[in-house]
Amino acid sequence: MSGNPKPVLVISRCLGFAACRWNGEIVRDDFVDLLSSHVRFITVCPEMEIGLGVPRDPIHIETGKGGLRLVQPATGRDVTGEMLAFCASFLESLPQVEGFILKARSPSCGIGDVKIFPSGRSEAGAVDKGPGFFGGEVKRRFPLLPTESEGRLKNFRLREHFLVRIFTLARFREAVGRGTVASLVDFHSRHKFLLMSYNQTELKALGRLAANPERKRAAELFEVYGEHLRKALSRPPRYVSNINVLLHSLGYFSDRLTAREKSYFLDALQRYRERKIPLSVPVDIMNSWIIRFEEKYLAEQAFFRPYPEGLAMISDSGKGRDL
Ligand code: SF4
Repeated sequence: MSGNPKPVLVISRCLGFAACRWNGEIVRDDFVDLLSSHVRFITVCPEMEIGLGVPRDPIHIETGKGGLRLVQPATGRDVTGEMLAFCASFLESLPQVEGFILKARSPSCGIGDVKIFPSGRSEAGAVDKGPGFFGGEVKRRFPLLPTESEGRLKNFRLREHFLVRIFTLARFREAVGRGTVASLVDFHSRHKFLLMSYNQTELKALGRLAANPERKRAAELFEVYGEHLRKALSRPPRYVSNINVLLHSLGYFSDRLTAREKSYFLDALQRYRERKIPLSVPVDIMNSWIIRFEEKYLAEQAFFRPYPEGLAMISDSGKGRDL
């Protein structure tokens, strides 16, 4: 693989960039720190943008006659209109981005775990949960872009899926920038195994587009291909799909490996199937053979190195497995 272009991500500003939380705090996050030299961040604090200062009385979401409202219980101020206007102007003027990392549980930035209170009675406790105002707008306007909270990204599997998506979309943006049908064919060829693991149906559709039998113009092709690509990457690959890709890859070497090497690899695949080891273990074994046998076609497959190695973190919260 050639180098990894930097994905562009929108991130909640309080996640390590400014002490802008309602109580004047900043949130430190190891993964965001690690990511910072590999991506380009666009930071945003929706509450600061609508003129709420720091420190400020907290705001929350409550039920209302015409729908949910964003209010500041201590002052009785309703900032629903200002927040919706900010979301529209900010999200409509965004440059192309590959994803979002938003602060969990915030009534503004949260993506789905935010408490909703009954109108005017916060002491009564939450009656429901849902997305925050900004986080909800992001998900509504960009349903196929990777959008996660810093909390969910503590889960190994969710983090892995997020990294694969943002770096694949950044490589696609680079291919679009080259602007030729040949650059699309090259992108598709390098991502075949990755797409095979993610979504076989979309892989076929993407293959047909890359073959371009109708001789469509590059710009038109890129647009349709991009839609299918984002769809293909929207769900994480199943264990069995990753195993099938690795077994398929084994076929490239099987006549050059000893019986013991093969059985060591198949044993690693079995332990991966049983959720005892991460995917990186059998992938690393395969990578060592790709280097040893100088297997150029596999060396170029994004499946084996989908994001910069420096981003691999094995820590896992054990939570947030539901996608
Ligand atoms: S959660 Fe969002 S609105 Fe709240 S401080 Fe962080 S960036 Fe600002």
